[in-house]
Amino acid sequence: MQLSTLVGEIPKVGPVYIKKLEKMGVRTIRDLLFYFPNRYEDFSNLKRIAQLKINETACIKAEVIKIENQATFKRRFSLTKAVIKDSSGTMQATWFNQPYLVQSIKPGDTVCLAGKISIGKEGAFFSNPVYEKIWAGQNNGQNEFTHTGRIIPVYPEIRGVSSRWLRFIIKPLLKEFANKIPETLPEDIVKENNLLPIKTAISEIHFPSTAKMAEKAKYRFAFEELFLLELFVLGKKKEISQLKTIPMPIKVETIQRLVKSLPFKLTDSQKKVAWRILKDMERNRPMSRLLQGDVGSGKTVVAAMAGLNVIKSGNQVAFMAPTEILSKQHFDTLGALLQDCRINIGLLTSKTDKFISKKLKRQAVEISRKKLLEDTLKGEIDILIGTHSLIQDKVKFLKLGLVILDEQHRFGVEQRAKLHRAGKTIIPHLLSMTATPIPRTLALTIYGDLDLSLIDQMPKGQRKVKTLLVPQKDRKKIYKLIEEEINKGRQAFVICPRIEEKELEEGQEDKSGWSEVKAVKEEYERLSKEVFPQFKIAMLHGKMPTTEKNKIMKDFKRRKTDILVSTSVVEVGIDIPNTTVMVIEGAERFGLSQLHQFRGRIGRQGDQAYCLLFYNARSKNAYARLKALATIDNGLKLAEMDLKIRGPGQFLGTKQWGLPDIAMNALDDFSLVEKTRETAQDILTRDPELKNLPFLRQRLISFRKNIHLE
Ligand code: ADP
Ligand code: MG
Repeated sequence: MQLSTLVGEIPKVGPVYIKKLEKMGVRTIRDLLFYFPNRYEDFSNLKRIAQLKINETACIKAEVIKIENQATFKRRFSLTKAVIKDSSGTMQATWFNQPYLVQSIKPGDTVCLAGKISIGKEGAFFSNPVYEKIWAGQNNGQNEFTHTGRIIPVYPEIRGVSSRWLRFIIKPLLKEFANKIPETLPEDIVKENNLLPIKTAISEIHFPSTAKMAEKAKYRFAFEELFLLELFVLGKKKEISQLKTIPMPIKVETIQRLVKSLPFKLTDSQKKVAWRILKDMERNRPMSRLLQGDVGSGKTVVAAMAGLNVIKSGNQVAFMAPTEILSKQHFDTLGALLQDCRINIGLLTSKTDKFISKKLKRQAVEISRKKLLEDTLKGEIDILIGTHSLIQDKVKFLKLGLVILDEQHRFGVEQRAKLHRAGKTIIPHLLSMTATPIPRTLALTIYGDLDLSLIDQMPKGQRKVKTLLVPQKDRKKIYKLIEEEINKGRQAFVICPRIEEKELEEGQEDKSGWSEVKAVKEEYERLSKEVFPQFKIAMLHGKMPTTEKNKIMKDFKRRKTDILVSTSVVEVGIDIPNTTVMVIEGAERFGLSQLHQFRGRIGRQGDQAYCLLFYNARSKNAYARLKALATIDNGLKLAEMDLKIRGPGQFLGTKQWGLPDIAMNALDDFSLVEKTRETAQDILTRDPELKNLPFLRQRLISFRKNIHLE
C-alpha cells in the first residue's frame, strides 16, 4: 500500500465506509492521514477508583467483574451494566444502546474506561464511557492506547463515521506511513520558523504525546496552509501585474475643474487617495486597489474623479453596487457630481433602464434596455451603473477602462482577477470600495491581491452618535425619545434582524429571506398601529419590487415619512442625512462591523444622534460584545474583534472557500499571517516556478484545485 492507495484497499474498510469517507472528501490513505481532529480529550492522567469525583471526566484502568445486558421496558433502548474494580475499590459502568459490548468485553478482562462520572441510585458510575481492552503483556506505554489512557483525537462528526472508528483506522496507518510522507516545506523554512517536520507533525496531530505537541502540530499545518494561500494570492497578484494595459495620463485640468465645481472642499485624505489612484492608472499595468473609508468619508467623489479621468482618456467605466437602490443612488449622485463634465451615464436595472445624456445634463430619461446595451457597446455610454447584472455576458463595453466595485465583499480573488479580463480590448483597472474595514490578517490573505488605501478623515468632523444598550423594559423611554426627535423634524430608522437559516426548524430552509420579511412586517404593523399612530411609517425589504423600493426611499429622503422600518440588506450605503435615531432590534444577531456600519448612517448633519440596541439578554456574550460597540468607535478595531469572535466567514459571505478549518481558524493570527506572507514572498523571489521544490509545487497545484476564493 502507498499513500495514494484508495481507502477501499485497507482491509477494515468496506464498501459502506468507502462511500461515507468519500462524502468527507477522503479517497486515499493520504486523505485519511490529513483528516485532522478538531479537538482532543485528555485521558492521559490515569486515576484510581477511590480518587474519582462526581461529575468529573476521568480515566481508569480496572478489571471487569461482571457485565450483562439488562431488560428494559422501552422499545429501542438497551442498557448494559458492568461492575469493575481496581485495588482501591469497586464501581459500576453503564452503556446505552450498545448491547453488543457483552460480546467483546468479558469478566476477567482488563479495560481502560474514560468518561464522565455520574451519580445514581446505586452510587457513582461511569456513564457511557469510552472503553479500550488492555491485552495481557501490554506495557501500558502511552502509545499503546488508542481511545483512552492518553490524549485522544476527536474528529469532526459525520453521520456514521465515529471518532472511535477513525482512531481505530488511522492509528495503524500512521505507524506505517508517517515516515513516508514527504516534507512539503523547504528545510530552512521549517528550521527558521521552529516548525515540526511533517513526519512528526502528522503523528502528533492525531495522537499527541502532550497538549503542547498537539499545539505545535496544529501550528505547523496552519503555517503550511496559510503559506500555500500566500503563494496562491501573491501568484495572482503577480499575474495581474504582468498584464499590460494602456496608460491613462492624468488630465489635471479636467480634474481640477471637477474639484472646483463641487459644493464642498475635498478633505486632505480624499485628495491623497484620489491622487494615488490617478497615479496608479497612469502606468501600463492594471490597478487593483481596495479603498477603505468609514461610512460618510466620501468615497463616491473619489471614485467619480477616477472615473472622469478614465473617460477623458477615451474609455468607459462600469460601476457596480450591491443593490438596485444603491445603483439608483449612485446614478443620481454621479449625475449631480459630474453634471458639467459632458458625459453620458447609464443605469441598468432589472426593470426600467435609465440614461442621463450629456445634453440633458441632470435630467434622467428612460430608455430601453436594448438601446442602453447598444450604446454601451458603441462606447457612447461613459459610465454604466448597475448591480451584478453588469458582468453578465449580455453587457459588452467597447473600451472598458475601469471597474468600480462598491461594497462587494462577496467578490473573491478569482472573481476580481476575472474582472480584469472583462474588457474586450483593454485590461480595465479595478477600484474596490468598502466601509467595512478589513482586518489586517484578511487584508494580507484573502484580499492579498489588492493594494490598500484608506480615507481616514471625515469631511464634517467626527459624528456624534451615542450608542446605548437598551433593556426591554426601557422600550417606552426609547419610543419617547423617538417621538421627541421626530417632533424636532428628525427621522428614524428601525432595523430588524435577519433570521439565520440554522435557527429555523429543520427542513425549513430560508434561502430566500422570507422570515426576515416577516419580522419587518410585524414590526411595521406594531409600530404604526400601536406605538406611533400619529407618525408616517414606511417599510422596506428586499422582496419588494424595485420601483416600490425606490419610491419608499424617495419619500423617506424627502421627509414624507418619519420612520423607516427596514431589513439590514437594503439600507447599506443609503444616504439620509436627516436621520438622528436608529433602533436596532435583536442587535446580538449582527456582527460588530455591521452594527458600526449601521450607526454610521445617522447623525450626518452634525447633530447628536442615537443608536439604540435592543438585544436578547439570554443570548450568550451578547452584552459584553455589544458593550464593546458602545465604547469603541474605531471600525478596524471592531472588525478585528469580530474576526476573533465570529470567524472570517462574514467578511466574504457564507460561501465555503475550500480552505481547511485549520487555516480558517488561524486567519486571526497576525504574526502567523505576516510570517507566512514574508516566507512566500522570499520563496517566490528565489524560485518563482518552485522548480527546486517539487513537493511544494505538487501541494500548491492541489491547493489551487481545492480553493475557490471566487
Ligand atoms: P461613503 O464613503 O460612505 O460612500 P459618500 O461618498 O456617500 O460616503 O459621502 C457622504 C456624503 O458626504 C455625501 O453627501 C457627500 O456629498 C458628502 N461629502 C463627500 N466629501 C465631502 C467633503 N470633502 N466635504 C463635505 N461633504 C462631503
Ligand atoms: Mg458609499
